[in-house]
Amino acid sequence: MKLIKIILLLLIFTSCNQNIKQSKDNSQRNQFVKGKIIDLTYDFSDETIYWVTAKEFELEVVTKGQTEKGFYYSANNLTAAEHGGTHIDAPVHFVENRQSVDQIPLEKLIGNAIKIDISAKIENNPDYQISIEDITNWEEKQKTQIPNGSIVLLETGFGKFYPDKIKYLGTDQRGSEAIQELHFPGLSPEAATWLVINRKIKAIGLDTPSIDYGQSVNFNSHIILLTENIPVFENLANLDKLPVTGFDIIALPMKIKEGSGAPLRIIAILE
Ligand SMILES: [Zn+2]
Repeated sequence: MKLIKIILLLLIFTSCNQNIKQSKDNSQRNQFVKGKIIDLTYDFSDETIYWVTAKEFELEVVTKGQTEKGFYYSANNLTAAEHGGTHIDAPVHFVENRQSVDQIPLEKLIGNAIKIDISAKIENNPDYQISIEDITNWEEKQKTQIPNGSIVLLETGFGKFYPDKIKYLGTDQRGSEAIQELHFPGLSPEAATWLVINRKIKAIGLDTPSIDYGQSVNFNSHIILLTENIPVFENLANLDKLPVTGFDIIALPMKIKEGSGAPLRIIAILE
């Protein structure tokens, strides 16, 4: 009996010791996120804005409530287009044989970022296209080029309209006839070309439904960026809460095999 008691005590002692050791290690590792975290992601709900021809987000409640067995259980089914709400465009969205969303290297989606705020200039012009000059003005003001390997975020100010479809998209109509009613700012194809030739950026994102402005018919900025394997983040939230420099981005899309894009959880970590 005595021997069993000793063994039991020893077992308890060693397991306690292991717990103490483990919490010590974790406390040393708690430094992972040092700065403030800002969520750049909108909720997915029946308010989520989708392209006027795309299937909207739907959450079907399967079970919600107490079970006969005495525990609570909640589970839903969801359906949606890839391109809606806060999401990523993979290169294959507009360019054949390019990376699908599951093939985008994670290095492209995580890293140092900068923000170019054009909101004051865009205010009353929903058809505005961000120009080369808007980018070079930012560089002059910051006294630096956009650093190599940056994730570039463009703040148009349209985020403040989300999820008001008339203000944010230009229309609350749906279907192919609504496409010509789309009015929101984007990146000009000239500026997209300038960026891919002159700067080495990892990814680009903005606070509108599309990197090409609402009235675009050929989606040239998409094609220019995606041809160079530069993923695009669309419908970003809270860009007004970000500084111009001094923050990192972590952008993790749903890993859809052969997906042309996907819902995206994207956060910024301030220095
Ligand atoms: Zn898209």
